[in-house]
Formats: sequence, structure tokens, C-alpha cells
Amino acid sequence: AAGVGGDFATVMAWVDKFRRMKVRANADTPHDAKTARDFGAEGIGLCRTEHMFFEADRIAAVREMILSADLEGRKKALAKILPMQKGDFKGLFREMKGLPVTIRLLDPPLHEFLPQEDKDIEALSATMGVSVQTLKHKVEFLHEFNPMLGHRGCRLGVTFPEIYDMQVQAIMEAACELVKDEGFQIVPEIMIPLVAVTKELAIMRANAVAVCEDVQKRYGVKVDYLIGTMIELPRAAITADSIATEADFFSFGTNDLTQTTFGLSRDDAGKFLPFYVENGILEDDPFVTLDQNGVGALVRMGCEKGRATRPGIKLGICGEHGGDPASVIFCDSVGLDYVSCSPFRVPIARLAAAHATLNAQAAAPAKSAAAGKDSDALQQPVASA
Ligand code: PEP
Ligand code: MG
Repeated sequence: AAGVGGDFATVMAWVDKFRRMKVRANADTPHDAKTARDFGAEGIGLCRTEHMFFEADRIAAVREMILSADLEGRKKALAKILPMQKGDFKGLFREMKGLPVTIRLLDPPLHEFLPQEDKDIEALSATMGVSVQTLKHKVEFLHEFNPMLGHRGCRLGVTFPEIYDMQVQAIMEAACELVKDEGFQIVPEIMIPLVAVTKELAIMRANAVAVCEDVQKRYGVKVDYLIGTMIELPRAAITADSIATEADFFSFGTNDLTQTTFGLSRDDAGKFLPFYVENGILEDDPFVTLDQNGVGALVRMGCEKGRATRPGIKLGICGEHGGDPASVIFCDSVGLDYVSCSPFRVPIARLAAAHATLNAQAAAPAKSAAAGKDSDALQQPVASA
């Protein structure tokens, strides 16, 4: 791509020699994945699957699924989405050519999926054979006053396990078909969002493993995979030693972790936060530059507790801070294996990661032996049956 060759490439190749941390990108489409690779991303650290569900040809099926009265109705709707999801993941895996890809299972504020307009409800009523009034009652029932603190993330997976089962099936079928038809291996990393309680992750993990093993048996193909979690709620960081018993990796979701640590809505913060920064009440906007004393302390605690339980646990960050230089340097100091940021920030993150390694070496020469190690070699894929 224009702008990523020549002198730039020479400088970045030099930079890459120094850094310890890997740099991945947040990407949801093959197009974003290609941009990320062009900028030097070494994997996808976050694919937000909810964006895939809003496409015109799917949203109707998604609404049908959410508003169905029973499991049978939900499964019928999900069966319509499955082939499209499989196509999404194949596209991403192909573009990343075997580099690690972390796919986060659905994490929507539920209300964004609900039909608001009469014409949409009427259309659903016709497809589902349910009265408009019944559907309107259901939409009203599902309405939440604080959707960002509500029925989202794994809470959706716990209450509607068939949604995550469909997504895991799509991930694993995509991986098996690539092995079988195109002869290349991928180690999918399946990520569970918004975990607060170990039991949530335990249930989601058991379900995902069952689906993965079933798909592999059907295809007669072996695919290694990891199952991990976002650490994006204070409770998850505080109980990370317990959560790590169920996780092959942690990815710090510092957008939500900042929101929930400060008790400050990430969507409304712009209304008064500038006043705080201008008047020195806060040094920086904590949604841009990681608040090292508060949110950072939770990240550090999450890393320490996670490693205490599972020494080789893979650790990364996929909140916006993963592309902010000062935050990247902090991530290095707590020993994250990688940062993941928007594709266009990958070069900045590579530079900041190198800067961090050099700082660390200058401060503690004895530790320099650790520099440049291949952190992805630390991963311990789930050995499939
Ligand atoms: C986060 O919370 O930091 C995160 C990466 O997830 P999202 O921004 O999609 O909530
Ligand atoms: Mg989040």
C-alpha cells in the first residue's frame, strides 16, 4: 500500500528488531485485515463480531432470533446466519495467512438489535407468524435503561447459549475447511467478552470446547485453538487468578475497564471530561491515555494474578489504548505479550513498543535477554481430541 514502503519500511524494520511486544490490529473485515497487515500487524487481536450482525441481509434474522419465543425459533434464525458467519471468518483467516486471529463472540448492547420502526416489526410479524402486538411487548420487555451495564457480552451467551454455539461452529468449520481445502493451518483464538464471574467463563468454555470437538470430528480434521477472555470489568481483574483457571489468554478491554473503573460512560464522557482535563483535575482523557494509577493498577493486578495461576498465559490489550504510545509503554512494563490497535495506529504502536523495550533495557540491563523473544511461541493451544 502507498506510504508503507521505502524509507518507512527501512525505519520500521529497524524498529522491529528492538521490540519485545507483538503488535496486532483490531479488524472486523478482510479489507481491514489487509490494511493491518500492510502496516505490519502480526495478527488480529480483536475481531468484533457484532458489526457483522448489522449487515442488511442479517439483521432481520438476528431480530427474529432475539424475539423468538422458544429455542426452536432461535435455532431456525441462527441457521440462516451460520453460512454467512463462516464466510466472514474464512475471509479473515485467509487474509491473515496463518497469523493469530482473536475472534470475540457477540457483544452487543442488546437494544441496538431490537426493531424500533413499525415497518420492521410488521415484517418480522409476517416472517415469524407472531402478532405485531406480541412482538411489541417483547421489544418493550427487552428494553434496558443502562444497556452498557446490561444484557450484553457473555451475559447474552449465558442466557442464549445457542448464539455462541453458532459462532463457534462457524469459526471451527471455517478453520477445518481451510485445512482441508486450502491446506493451511490457523489457530483460532475464541474470546469471551464482559466476563465478571469465573462461572460465566467456565460455562462458555465448556460449550465452546464441545462445539469445537464436534465440528472437528465431523470434518475428520484437527485444529488447535485457544479459548480466552476479555478482562474489562474491575471484578474480572480482581479475580483474575480464578478466571485464569478457565482462560488460555487474557485481553484487556481497557475501554470498558476505564468506563467501569471510573463509573463514567464512555459514550457521554465528552460532555464534561474536557473541563476536567483543562482544569487539571485529570491529567489526560483516560479513554485515550491509560490511567496508570487506577485502570493500570487493575491491568497490572490482572497480569500478576493471571500468571500466578497459569504462568504461560498469553496477555494482550485490545482497548483503544493499545495504539497510544504512553499506554503501550505501560503495557510493556506489566509484561503484556502484545498490543492490538486500529490498523492505522500499528506503526505508532510498533515504534512505541520498541521505545519501551529500549527504556526497559536501559533501566535494567539484566532483563535484556528477554527482549525479542517470540511471545506467540508461549501459547498453549487446547489440544483437541
Ligand atoms: C474494550 O472494552 O476495551 C473493548 C476492546 O471492547 P469494546 O470497545 O468493543 O467494548
Ligand atoms: Mg468492551
